[in-house]
Amino acid sequence: MSKFTARIESNRWTPADEEALLETWGQEEIYAFDPRAKNLYSVDTPPPYLSGHVHIGQLVHYTQIDIIARYRRMQGLQVNFPLGIDRNGLPVELRVEKEFGMNMHNTPREEFVRKCKEQLDMYEEEVVESFRRLGISFNAYSGDGVYRTDSPKYRAVTQATFISLWKQGLVYSDYRPNNWCLDCGTTIADAEVEYEERQTTLYYLYFQVERMEPIKIATTRPELLCACGAIFVHPDDERYREYRGKKARVPIFDIDVPIIESATAQVEFGTGALMVCSYGDMADVMAFRNFGLKPIPAISPEGRMTDAAGKYAGLSTSEAKKKIVEDLRARGILYKEESINQRVPICWRSKTPIEFIAMDEYYLRQTEFTDALMKIALETKFFPDFHRQILIDWINRVSVDWPVSRRRFYGTEMPIWYCNACGKPVLPEPGEVRYYQPWREDPPFNKCPECGAENGFKGEERTFDTWMDSSISGLQIIGYMRNDALFRKGFGNVIRPQGKDIVRTWLYYSLLRTYQLTKKAAFKEVWVSGHVVDDKGEKMSKSKGNSPPPKPIIDKYGADAMRLFGILEAGLGSDVRFSEDRLAGVSKFMTKLWNISRFLSMFPIPPRMQYSDLTAVDRWILAETNKMIEGIIPDCELLDFHKPATDVKSFAWGFFADHIVEMLKARCLNTDGSFTAEEQQSGWYVLHETLKVILKALAPITPFITDRVYRELYNKRGIHREQFPSVNAEWQSPLTKETNLVLQTDAALWKFKRDSNMSLRQGIPEACIPGRLKSWAKDLKAMHGIQTLRFTKPKGTGFTQVPIPESDEFIYVKGAQTAESSK
Ligand SMILES: [Zn+2]
Ligand SMILES: [Zn+2]
Repeated sequence: MSKFTARIESNRWTPADEEALLETWGQEEIYAFDPRAKNLYSVDTPPPYLSGHVHIGQLVHYTQIDIIARYRRMQGLQVNFPLGIDRNGLPVELRVEKEFGMNMHNTPREEFVRKCKEQLDMYEEEVVESFRRLGISFNAYSGDGVYRTDSPKYRAVTQATFISLWKQGLVYSDYRPNNWCLDCGTTIADAEVEYEERQTTLYYLYFQVERMEPIKIATTRPELLCACGAIFVHPDDERYREYRGKKARVPIFDIDVPIIESATAQVEFGTGALMVCSYGDMADVMAFRNFGLKPIPAISPEGRMTDAAGKYAGLSTSEAKKKIVEDLRARGILYKEESINQRVPICWRSKTPIEFIAMDEYYLRQTEFTDALMKIALETKFFPDFHRQILIDWINRVSVDWPVSRRRFYGTEMPIWYCNACGKPVLPEPGEVRYYQPWREDPPFNKCPECGAENGFKGEERTFDTWMDSSISGLQIIGYMRNDALFRKGFGNVIRPQGKDIVRTWLYYSLLRTYQLTKKAAFKEVWVSGHVVDDKGEKMSKSKGNSPPPKPIIDKYGADAMRLFGILEAGLGSDVRFSEDRLAGVSKFMTKLWNISRFLSMFPIPPRMQYSDLTAVDRWILAETNKMIEGIIPDCELLDFHKPATDVKSFAWGFFADHIVEMLKARCLNTDGSFTAEEQQSGWYVLHETLKVILKALAPITPFITDRVYRELYNKRGIHREQFPSVNAEWQSPLTKETNLVLQTDAALWKFKRDSNMSLRQGIPEACIPGRLKSWAKDLKAMHGIQTLRFTKPKGTGFTQVPIPESDEFIYVKGAQTAESSK
């Protein structure tokens, strides 16, 4: 038996081993955050929105964010990384309505709110368990380290910030058309509107004009005829010169509308004459305003035609369209139909077309802040830098104020009461941070400051747009309005990691709200990742069947493999394509890393050695290790761990395992005593030093296996309190120039053995290799069992010439007796 035995006993690393580490981490509270520390760094992680089961793409996204937190922690920063859960807002309400066949507006509010809570709790348990299983290093998984956007504590701050903005005069109420999602049953902000190409029909109609030929109109929305307010023709359009100033008669409804010159009419679209309807689209809304036309609301908030639609009243918009088209056709008014592609505004959440509907809503001023926000957008660090453009483009498009009131139940209540005498809105005094529920409680005042009456108040029933809550998560996590000491220390050192799909909502609103409250930039750094899509680049969704449930996959391949996969697949900002096959491939690296570590675990760990006391080969190995670290640091500093992960993996596998460990094996074992004790010790030292660097460089990415090996071999406190590797100025060697030649010579020797049907352990009587490799002579001899190694051209016969790959040099090897001939 060898005198060396592996200290790492288990010969296999399995995903189940990760569970034991989770226990240890929990008990040791190794990711706990100490708010008294000086160098705070806060991670404003997107609190996941709970609207259904957690999916794999979401989880990969969070592992990427966790890598940032772990990297910063290993840089010595005190990382504030709370687990947050976003629970306010629409999706859960819609889910409850669907799942329990309820209608929110016909259900007692208490009951509805309770049902939402139950659903949220169920999904929360699942997502939190997935986070824990993947090793997301949140400060804590329960207690104070966790926040929920629907907790009284969180909502109290949301309300207090609103009261403060109200007192600054930044909130007003107005009746105006807004984006209205029929599916979600609510007003939505511009930031939540997307555009999609859809196929639709363009209908060509005649509108009668007195004593003239009828004017021809093309429209995609004949159901809005009853809301028509004018016909626009372009000033340069010669076809309609005679029609200007005349009136056209809207068919079926027989309303006379003016024909007006406007540059908004497009000469090339349809007939060039444009039917302008109340609330048809945003351009129509503007046109009505600009020409002082009186709007005729044709569609109700429920998506039905209003009384203005006459005999079509009560029909849904699509039914009405069908009926009106039939009638127009029957009367010979419809003379042509054409299929076209159209850019349709759709709701960001439900992906269904929106309507414009006028309602009374509260607005938060934002148009007057765009200059300040643009400055912040340009000054804040973005990782990757190119995603800054999404924000800039959005700020350039902001043109109306933000409607922040919602007619929903499950959200933070607007802290407003209305005086029974004068009807004026009254808010609690700013300063006090308290959670108010005006729909069920009396106000904290009894006298109206406007009229002095004490006639009681009626509570506001509306809630806030959910972005009002989530846009201050970055302030909430550093104790804004609750813990001044923490806030003073933490503000200015916050990173916002998030997906690119919520730049114009979550990021933009966070910058807006923080600026309104503090006059400062919300974040020091903004990190924007791509999406996780399926193997073909398609969005993953359960309905498409391309979004497998995550648990079985994590159980099978382990958290480390999942984490490493997500980072190897794409650079920061680009989409990650999920593929189980490639994940399986990545998981093989875990096995490799375990095998190398276990092998090295049989060698003692010598006390710290001087670099100059190491052998030349060992100095070269550390110099190569140093080069690897030097190569990955710039990308780590850009919080893009794609290249670092790729490089460390290929260093560990392609260089360290395949060449170095093999090369030093003979010296480290020193079975025949051909090496000195110093040379042997130098080998042990360097193998362990290199493994330590590999483990530390991988620790943020694969925290489980690296911690386990580190605990077994180097430090019982584990790897996650260690410093991330840095460049070691001392580790330099001129031999790194020859690295490729060494590796390829090594490869050529192995190839020779294989081609000569030799066993890999069989010795070689004589070999000649390039003279530049002298420093490696002893290790190469020992590794390949070469009896005579020369650095000259071969003398005599019996040599085989083997080309050294990637060079124009050769090695010459004297063929040993083959296995057969030696018998
Ligand atoms: Zn919607
Ligand atoms: Zn009053």
